[in-house]
Amino acid sequence: MYLSKDIYVGGQWVASASDRTLVVRSPSTEEVVGEVPDASPADIDAAVGAARSAFDSGPWPRMSPVERAEVMLALLDQLSARLAQLETVIAAETGTPRMLLRPAQIDNALDVLRYYAGLAGGLVVEAPRTGVNAAAVVRREPVGTVAAIIPWNAPLFLSMMKVAPAMAAGCTVVLKAAPETPVNAYLLAEAADAAGVPPGVLNVLATGPASGERLVTHPGIDKIAFTGSTAAGRRIAGLAGEQLKHVTLELGGKSAAIVLDDADLDAAMLQLIGSTMSLSGQMCIAQSRILVSRERYDEAVERFAAVAGVLPVGDPLEEGTFIGPLISRRQRERVLGYIAAGREAGAVPVVGGGVPSHLERGWYVEPTVFRDVSNDMSIAQEEIFGPVVVFIPYTDVTEAVSVANDSPFGLHGTVWTSDLERGLAVGREIRTGTFGVNGMTLDAGLPFGGVKSSGLGRECGPEGLDAYLDTKTIFLPAATEPSA
Ligand code: NAD
Repeated sequence: MYLSKDIYVGGQWVASASDRTLVVRSPSTEEVVGEVPDASPADIDAAVGAARSAFDSGPWPRMSPVERAEVMLALLDQLSARLAQLETVIAAETGTPRMLLRPAQIDNALDVLRYYAGLAGGLVVEAPRTGVNAAAVVRREPVGTVAAIIPWNAPLFLSMMKVAPAMAAGCTVVLKAAPETPVNAYLLAEAADAAGVPPGVLNVLATGPASGERLVTHPGIDKIAFTGSTAAGRRIAGLAGEQLKHVTLELGGKSAAIVLDDADLDAAMLQLIGSTMSLSGQMCIAQSRILVSRERYDEAVERFAAVAGVLPVGDPLEEGTFIGPLISRRQRERVLGYIAAGREAGAVPVVGGGVPSHLERGWYVEPTVFRDVSNDMSIAQEEIFGPVVVFIPYTDVTEAVSVANDSPFGLHGTVWTSDLERGLAVGREIRTGTFGVNGMTLDAGLPFGGVKSSGLGRECGPEGLDAYLDTKTIFLPAATEPSA
């Protein structure tokens, strides 16, 4: 049980001004596993004030990128020293099964931090440039103070996708954790404190949308980096637009996996179990629509269902569990609502479709597989964010591509084939920000993000650092040669 009455502001743990708390419950036992303040408007003001003064007059933006990289590596060491505690906390907050905990929640976060520490070391801040008629020095400067707003599904990883490039660029950050999963962010603050991250560079608190909007609209914030639902992203983009703030949005998805006829069906279906059901489907890049040709449709559904139907569902702490609970009762109701809508629309559940009968506590939903789905059904168009997969038949590859693209979202997608060139050809036709041939992958060093209703901007890779940098041109007097 993690208890705190503080928020982390200006390099110190300070008593929250809030009279409300966030009670964190384990999604599997429903027991209380933590309690932290529900940050108040005064807390938000204090955190933004600390980030602002650290940016305007603190050492961080004025340090060399190499010096910042050293601090980031010290943070990496401090996080690595807390691995056991991170595992316990993130398992308790998110209900992630043990076998997925390190790869899906922790190791990827450390990869991102390590990657951006490396990139910071090589950042060229100032370069001479000659234009058409003038000479200048072109500088890459940090955008300023950043509000990082995080959802609950992969909280440390998604935090690091913002905090690490922001730190590398020289920005200062207010990290707002989701109310469901605040404790991992508190551990991140503890690690930053121990690593000697200068005061005000990273400020941490947790609250919901209401105080969150105060953070978004706070005049002291220069950039908003948001991961979450498309609805909240739209609202935040609107608020940011009014104030002309920088904004990066990583939003929802409804990715399509196109299984070509030359695919090794056994291998593809097995991998697609991981790409759809991991974290109980609570993944923005889940390949939740599986498109198979009419010739191989029955065979594919049968093979997938055979595995999905026997996936171990239960206590995430038990060795062997693959399907843990959903994050909350509310999320379970939402997912069950979609399952009911799918049935009503005429789709046929061949596996699951309800709540597992052997589990008395916890917010579980059975792995659920629908067949006879058409792409216009709500279960094919809307993001469910649960262990629900739909199989849609296609006649030819042209139709498969058009069904895949017939979505408001454009985050990720995959193609499954034994011919890499065919796979790449399909990938070029799909309107998403990310795509995979025979696998669903993310990588700290490669750009990730969405098009259409899946977001704006990119995280990870050099592009993820660019999102925290502004360009300044300092023109030199006429007839001056820029010096290297
Ligand atoms: P959510 O949008 O309800 O909340 C996300 C975060 O935003 C939370 O911290 C919440 O408190 C905050 N928030 C919500 N409205 C806000 C507002 N108006 N102002 C300020 N803060 C606000 O999403 P969720 O239910 O926590 O997470 C699930 C969603 O996140 C899914 O749609 C999923 O696809 C998306 N997601 C996207 C990615 C990605 O990288 N594209 C990754 C993970 C999750």
